[in-house]
Amino acid sequence: MSLAPINLSGLTRAQLSAALVDAEVASPREARMRTAQAWGWIHHHGVTDFAAMSNIAKGTRAALAERFVLARPEIVERQESRDGVIKWLIRFAPGNEVETVFIPDVAHSGALCVSSQVGCTLNCSFCHTGTQGLVRNLTAAEIVAQVQVARDDLGEWPTSLENRRLSNVVFMGMGEPLYNLDNVAAALDILSDNEGIAISRRRITVSTSGVVPELSPLGERTGAMLAVSMHATRDELRDQLVPINRRYPIAELMAAIRAYPGLSNAKRVTFEYVMLKGVNDAPADAKALVKLIAGIPAKINLIPFNPWPGAPFQCSDPETIEAFAAIIRRAGYASPVRKPRGRDILAACGQLKSESEKLRASARRRATASAS
Ligand code: SAH
Ligand code: SF4
Repeated sequence: MSLAPINLSGLTRAQLSAALVDAEVASPREARMRTAQAWGWIHHHGVTDFAAMSNIAKGTRAALAERFVLARPEIVERQESRDGVIKWLIRFAPGNEVETVFIPDVAHSGALCVSSQVGCTLNCSFCHTGTQGLVRNLTAAEIVAQVQVARDDLGEWPTSLENRRLSNVVFMGMGEPLYNLDNVAAALDILSDNEGIAISRRRITVSTSGVVPELSPLGERTGAMLAVSMHATRDELRDQLVPINRRYPIAELMAAIRAYPGLSNAKRVTFEYVMLKGVNDAPADAKALVKLIAGIPAKINLIPFNPWPGAPFQCSDPETIEAFAAIIRRAGYASPVRKPRGRDILAACGQLKSESEKLRASARRRATASAS
């Protein structure tokens, strides 16, 4: 049986070094230097061909090419919306697909919204991803590959420290990142490495629905910025919208947020709040939200609900959202209303669902329709 060659593109430095030594491409004595060279080619220059590694001896390059690959995953589809949002459907294996979305002109230049799992087990009632059956964790390499694919497309190799279009990464695509913390943490190590992709940890935000026991470990292991999907201020309602609340209710969540390592005015928590018409959008809800987060260095991100086919909610009216935002601003918090972007290509928050799942779902609907 022949084993598939190891893909070096998404290994951590330690794994890359071990792979080079194991394959006898580097002696233990040379490991550090060889790893640094290969790392620079892979993560600073973004090369996908060993032949391009011009400061590595020809014989060594040939030895590398014999044992390893530098492969990108398959891009099944690329869509660009009228407002410049780009969405890639990336296939890691048959049926294992995720969506990755580039949103230009946010933060300092642009944010890449990455997925951490294929699908999600959590079934939040307003989220399209949560309706997807198949779920598995992505590996660190698969998380990093989403950034590499985006950079290939945007033409952003080698890494430049100025004028980047892709300056920030947000874990707000498919999946619950804190159910996959080991791989998310390894991906952050790779993405933030200064001799590579060099996206600072302060520009990487991890969004969670509230996996309370993993909050502190996230801060300690990654130093990432934290975003929390709040969406309701009462347990009774949050239980319905974000079912993980039944396991970790609001009081426990708030205590874990207050204890998040490194919180300060320069490192605020983002509270995400999806605006659902007639459900959580009353002025009393805004006041309750302000009370709940009192004393926490925070930003509040109001997200107009993004509809998807068959969704059981509607988006709040613009005036309702504005009134809600005004209450929050009066309490002294920044409260940007997130502009819906990429709606024409179903690339907005919570609309991501893999194509194979959509096809399976529509085949099921057709089968049900023809049976009845
Ligand atoms: N699982 C993580 C991260 C991915 S979801 C989490 O839940 O935080 C990223 C954000 O999009 C979350 O705040 C989520 O609640 C929100 N979201 C999900 N579906 C949405 C929809 N249809 N419209 C608007 N926001 C949505
Ligand atoms: Fe999963 Fe987040 Fe969607 Fe909830 S909102 S189902 S946690 S991806």
